[in-house]
Amino acid sequence: MSAPSGVSGSAPRAVLGRLADGRGRTAGELAAETGLARSTVVHALNRLVAAGTVEPGAAGLRGRGRPARTWALTARPGPLAVVVAAAHGSLAAVVTSEGDVLALRDAGPMVVEVDGLRPEPVLAALDEVLAQAGVAPADLSMAVVGVPGQSAFGATSAAAAPSPSGHLRRFGTWAGRPPAQVLGERLGCAVHTENDANLAALGEAVFGAARGMPTVLHVSLAFGTGSGLVLDGRLHRGRSGLAGEIGHLHADDDGRLCHCGAHGCFWQTQSVPALLEALAEAHGRPFTQPDVARGVDDDDPDVVRALLGFGHALGRRLADAIVFLDPHAVVVDGSLGPASRVVADGVREAIRRYAPPTMARGATVLVGAFGEQAYALGAVALARSEHLFARR
Ligand SMILES: [Zn+2]
Repeated sequence: MSAPSGVSGSAPRAVLGRLADGRGRTAGELAAETGLARSTVVHALNRLVAAGTVEPGAAGLRGRGRPARTWALTARPGPLAVVVAAAHGSLAAVVTSEGDVLALRDAGPMVVEVDGLRPEPVLAALDEVLAQAGVAPADLSMAVVGVPGQSAFGATSAAAAPSPSGHLRRFGTWAGRPPAQVLGERLGCAVHTENDANLAALGEAVFGAARGMPTVLHVSLAFGTGSGLVLDGRLHRGRSGLAGEIGHLHADDDGRLCHCGAHGCFWQTQSVPALLEALAEAHGRPFTQPDVARGVDDDDPDVVRALLGFGHALGRRLADAIVFLDPHAVVVDGSLGPASRVVADGVREAIRRYAPPTMARGATVLVGAFGEQAYALGAVALARSEHLFARR
């Protein structure tokens, strides 16, 4: 679609990052939003106009009659392909650079083998969403892939990527190859990798339930127990790319070996997949996420109690996180529908009980607004906050 800007430097990238939502802005607005000096913004705009990336819009009258020209991208960035592939679930989506989800398809649990996940089902889902959205690979501005484990964002080569333990590596590998490489060959565009829970966190913190809140801790439930920490609209990944991952808090000295390499991690016994297993065992039949949603709608006491108990266990851990982070909001993944609300009730109760009252009162517990669409919106938020549109 649109040509790369060909303009290097952090100021042009920052300006392009702001204009990526398609809305025109004045130089003054761009200076305020980027924190750059107005003269730096004007210089960057001049270079971008010369490169054909940015064009002046209509000059309107403002304030005391001084004309204020707006600036906008000459062509909006193309849509993004988004693939999320965790062991317990996967999806593919197409989303515009403005944040409209054009198509999304659930591709079910992934098959995990010795050399990694088998990508065929999620790649088939990707073909389907592209067809449904009427988007050809050549029209994409980029692809974003969400995988479990340490964030590999910014790693441009296998050598630069974090080297997780053998167990975790399987989840970030598709039939022996890095997912970004597989997708890059298939789509012919740049592919950026991020932790799946981080994408959902960004989606809800930037576009969704916690929009505009400076410190947001998001807990993902659908594909395990993951979490992401968003500070002022940007991910906090930490040194090893696992910051905020409450699923790997230590819970049981005698617990099983986790794929992170530690023993007895919280998510192994406290997660939606673990809860489904426990319900299936108790009821002697398989239990799916839709079964749980139905159980909540029917006020099934077994299901409601199990969800409240899970929410309470989660809230007990989150109460500690609240002391460390003092967040404005804790967002509980909304992809479980009515079940998410029951989990959030348990979380709220535990936070009230275990966190210091002043902090507990300040941290609002919200339910995610977008469900699985949060991953797709998170990819757009990632592209904006990391200035990826300008790097195409
Ligand atoms: Zn672990």
